Amino acid sequence: MACNHSARDCPDSVTAHRLMQQYIDCDAATCPAKGPAFRFLVAQGEVCPDDRSQEYAR
Ligand SMILES: [Zn+2]
Repeated sequence: MACNHSARDCPDSVTAHRLMQQYIDCDAATCPAKGPAFRFLVAQGEVCPDDRSQEYAR
């Protein structure tokens, strides 16, 4: 189910974590706001890919 959120800048991990919480009910694979934040945190090693990959792959 896609959402209508706008893409958000994700300049740092603090912002990314905030976006993850703000859009916690969104699908990282489809949400334009949560997706980049999630990928940023994975790239930074700040989230566990195993823990989130099921949500991401959904
Ligand atoms: Zn969303």
